[in-house]
Amino acid sequence: MDQQIRKGRMEEHKIFNLAVYLLHPRFSCCEERNTRYADLKVSDEEGTSGTLKKNVGNASTKTSHSREKKSRKTVYPDSLTIGEAQDPQEAGAVYALRQALIADNLLPEILDDYQMMLRYLRARNFNIESTKNMWIGMLQWRKDFGANNILEEYKFSELDEVLKYFLQGYHGIDKEGRPVYIEILGQADPKKLMGVTTIERYVKYYVQEYERTLAIRFPACSIAAGRRVASSTTIVDVQGVGLGNLTKPVIELIRRLQQINSNYPDTLCQMFIVNAGPGFKMLWNMVQSFLEAKAKSKIHVLGTKFKSTLLEVIDASELPEFLGGTCSCAEKGGCMRSNKGPWRDPHITKEEDVCVHRNHSSKSATLVADHFTPVECRH
Ligand SMILES: [Zn+2]
Repeated sequence: MDQQIRKGRMEEHKIFNLAVYLLHPRFSCCEERNTRYADLKVSDEEGTSGTLKKNVGNASTKTSHSREKKSRKTVYPDSLTIGEAQDPQEAGAVYALRQALIADNLLPEILDDYQMMLRYLRARNFNIESTKNMWIGMLQWRKDFGANNILEEYKFSELDEVLKYFLQGYHGIDKEGRPVYIEILGQADPKKLMGVTTIERYVKYYVQEYERTLAIRFPACSIAAGRRVASSTTIVDVQGVGLGNLTKPVIELIRRLQQINSNYPDTLCQMFIVNAGPGFKMLWNMVQSFLEAKAKSKIHVLGTKFKSTLLEVIDASELPEFLGGTCSCAEKGGCMRSNKGPWRDPHITKEEDVCVHRNHSSKSATLVADHFTPVECRH
């Protein structure tokens, strides 16, 4: 009997871990300001010529802040107005947080970014002290993990092999211009996955992708959409997912990824969990009581009839066929291998293979287009 209880508790623990990974905290709510992003313009005078071209797509390129390219650091108070109408209360909170961080020498240039600070504030309900503590934790984590240079320095050479056993990746944009991230969790084969990579290497790749999204995908999407895009839409296909999948390495991976997610709050806007069977729905019912109403309202757990819902938020041409869209990316080896999106658009980025990244002289985690510079692609 005791054994049964213990087993039951272990199962609950597993469910909880999986749920936490899926739903929290990478899923904290975002509210992008639906305003024109008026300052998305690349300077040709700054030595960044050709990286991100002027007048791309529908992007509004009426710049009014060309002087900001000189240095974000020195113009920061002005940067509160970069490219979008700021909520005065939010702007005030960001300003206060920034002052508090500077006073304690906690604001390296690379992280001196309005959106980044705003994300942290939102994650802590705009409590400055509590946000500052979260920030300190993040700084320590970035140092310990080596996140600051991971975008340039890490090479996940086994990606092709990894995709055979865990299909995931960014593909296209939603109707609001946000990048769409897709995970085919149900078809993952953790055992074979661990045969071609290690948990440690996979976690590094995961962090690198976060950094890539902040530094490249969001800015490219912003240019394409003509408004600031600062969060993504996620689709997770959980067909066949049950407790049987939760083996020891999977639990360990989930635990590690959870820790990572907490360092990137508020980067996910909405999540669609599709092909949820009765087992997953039961799990969801248990988990949702732990979530705040706002977060809950943005997570959509759908069964097999999910296609029309996805097509409400994503154009068919941007959605893979296997999720109800019309895209197959046949020439690229399938949608999950194509990395399709504005970040690969040669009109937005110089290189087809998206080789833009942070300008070292004015690093920032969420950059406006002005702050990109081309680098050699190492792929
Ligand atoms: Zn495709």
